[in-house]
Amino acid sequence: MRRSIATVCLSGSLVAKMHAAAAAGFDGIEVFEPDLVASELSPEEIRALAARLGLSLDLYQPFRDIEGVTDELFRDGLRRAEAKFVVMNRLGVDTMLVCSNAGTATIDSDEVSAAQLRELGDLAARYGVRLAFEALAWGRYVDDYRRSWNIVELADHPQVGLCLDSFHILSRGHDPAAIEQIPAEKIFFLQLADAPALSMDVLSWSRHHRLFPGEGSFDLPAFLAHVLRAGYTGPLSLEVFNDTFRQTDVGRTAVHALRSLLWLEDQARRAMGDAGGLLTDIEPPTGFDFVEVKAEDTGPVEVVLGQLGFAFRGRHRSKPVNLWTSGDARIVLNEQQARDALPHLSAVGLRVDDDAAAARRGAELMAPAVHRRTYASEVPLEAVEAPDGTEIFFGGGSTSGWVEEFRGGSGASGGLVLGVDHVNLAQPWQYFDEAVLFYTSVLALDAQTGVEVAGPRGLVRSRVMSSPGSAVRLPLNVVPPVDEHGPASQHIALVCSDVRQVVREARARGLAVLPVPTNYYDDLQARLGIDAELRRELEQLDILYDRDADGEYFNAYTQTIGHVFFEIVERRGGYGGYGATNAPVRMAAQQR
Ligand code: MG
Ligand code: MG
Repeated sequence: MRRSIATVCLSGSLVAKMHAAAAAGFDGIEVFEPDLVASELSPEEIRALAARLGLSLDLYQPFRDIEGVTDELFRDGLRRAEAKFVVMNRLGVDTMLVCSNAGTATIDSDEVSAAQLRELGDLAARYGVRLAFEALAWGRYVDDYRRSWNIVELADHPQVGLCLDSFHILSRGHDPAAIEQIPAEKIFFLQLADAPALSMDVLSWSRHHRLFPGEGSFDLPAFLAHVLRAGYTGPLSLEVFNDTFRQTDVGRTAVHALRSLLWLEDQARRAMGDAGGLLTDIEPPTGFDFVEVKAEDTGPVEVVLGQLGFAFRGRHRSKPVNLWTSGDARIVLNEQQARDALPHLSAVGLRVDDDAAAARRGAELMAPAVHRRTYASEVPLEAVEAPDGTEIFFGGGSTSGWVEEFRGGSGASGGLVLGVDHVNLAQPWQYFDEAVLFYTSVLALDAQTGVEVAGPRGLVRSRVMSSPGSAVRLPLNVVPPVDEHGPASQHIALVCSDVRQVVREARARGLAVLPVPTNYYDDLQARLGIDAELRRELEQLDILYDRDADGEYFNAYTQTIGHVFFEIVERRGGYGGYGATNAPVRMAAQQR
C-alpha cells in the first residue's frame, strides 16, 4: 500500500520535512497548513519539489469550524474554504481534511451539518477537491466516527467522504468494527496514530502524546484490519503530534516513522489471516547468548566477575577480547577500538532460531546493520544497531561456535551464577519510544506497560521488553541525558539460585557490594512483615527484597564500574518483576 506522513510529525522546515520523508522511503505527505504558511516556497515550488522527490501530496489539512454553524458563519466559512481550494489547486492536492466543529458549532443537528457539507461539496467540485470529514474526539457535537459517517451519508455528495483517524476513534473507546460497514469509496483518507494509556483531557493527550504505531497502547493492527476489510485502498498515513518527535532529528524520525508503518501493515495482514505478511517472519529470541562490555581497560570488570565466581574462559585468538562465563552467562570484555572509553555495555547477543531471517527482517525495517571486522575462519555474526547505539547480535543455533575462538582459559563453566536474568538499557529521552518500536518490530519482543520510579535526580520512566516466557528481558529506562557523573549506567542482572551464598562468597573474594541503608530494612520489615532473622541476614549482606502474589525477589548490586554495574538476582516462585519498589534506594546508594 502507499505510505504517507503528515508534515506535522516531523521537525524543521517544510522543505526539510519533504526531503526527510522522501529519503526514508515514504510515497507521499499530508501538507499541514501551518508548515505551508511558514514556508518561503510558493505552492508551485512545493509542488515541483514534491515531484522531483517522487512524493505525492495526499492531503491538505486541517480545515476547521465549517459545519453545525449559523448561516452567517457558514457564508464566511465558504469564503475561507474557497481561498484554500485555490491554494490546493496550485499545490496539486485534491483532498482536504475537514474536522468536525470544535469551536463555533451551535446547531446540534446531523441534517444541518450534512446540508452545509453538501453545499461545501458543490463549491469543492468546482476546484476538483474532495472533502474528508473527520470526527474529532473533542468535537462539540460530532465526536464519533459513526456520527460523522451518518452526516456524510446524509450529505450524499460525491465530493464528501470520511477521514478516519485511529486516535479519535480509539482514544474514546469507540468500537472500530462498524468501519467495515462503510463503503470503501466513501473512506477518503486514513490517519494512523498510537498513544499511551493516559487519563487526561483528550485534546492535550492528542496534541502532545500521540505515538507512532506499535509504541502505545492502542490495538492498531486490529483497527487497520477493519479499515482494510472495508476495502480501503488509499494511503496509510501517519498523523502523530508528539513533543519529542517535533524536536528531534528529522531524518531519523522519518525512518523511525516508516518502520512503524511497515510493522503495522505486516501485523494487520497477519491479523486478517494473510499467509504471508509484509516482513520476514521470525520467532522471538529464546535467550541471551552473551553480553559485551567495552573499555580501554576491562581489568576492573574482570576483577568483579572473578569475585562473582565467573571463570576466565579465554582470550580471543586474534582480538583483544576476553570471555568470562558462569553457567549460561557469557560476558565478553572487548578492548578493541575502545581508546579512552570507560567500561560500558556495548552489545547484547540474543539466541534466535534463524539468524539470517532475523538479519533480513532487521534490514526490511531499516535497522542499521553492524559491521565488525571479521577474520578468516571466524564465525560471522549478524547484528543490528539499536536506537541507543547498543549492538544487537543474532546468535545461538548454528552460530554458537564463536565461543571456541577463545583460548587459554579454564574449561570450567564457573560458579553459582546460572545465567543472565535481564539487561537494563538506559535510554536517551529522545530515543525511548523509538527503542520500544525497535525491539517490538525488529526482535518481536513484547512491550510491557510502562512504570515510573522516583530517582534522586528525577523520575525514571521504565518499560520492559520481553520474550514470551521471559527468557529475554530488556528493561528500558529513560534517564537524565547527562549529569555530573557522566552518562547513565546500564546494568547486567545475573540469575542464581542462592543470592545469599553468592554475596557471601563474593565478599570473601573482596567484592564491595552496594551498601543498603538501615532505613530500608526498617521499612521492609514494616511493609512486608518479614521476620527478624531474615531481616538481619538481608541487612548484613546488603540484599534487597521484594514479594508479590506470585513469588519473591532477592537482589544485590555491585558498585558501578565506569558506566556499568552487575545485579545478582534470585527469583522464587513466579515473581516476574524487577524489585521496582527498591529502585529508588538503589539509585540513592549509587549517587552516594
Ligand atoms: Mg487526524
Ligand atoms: Mg535490574
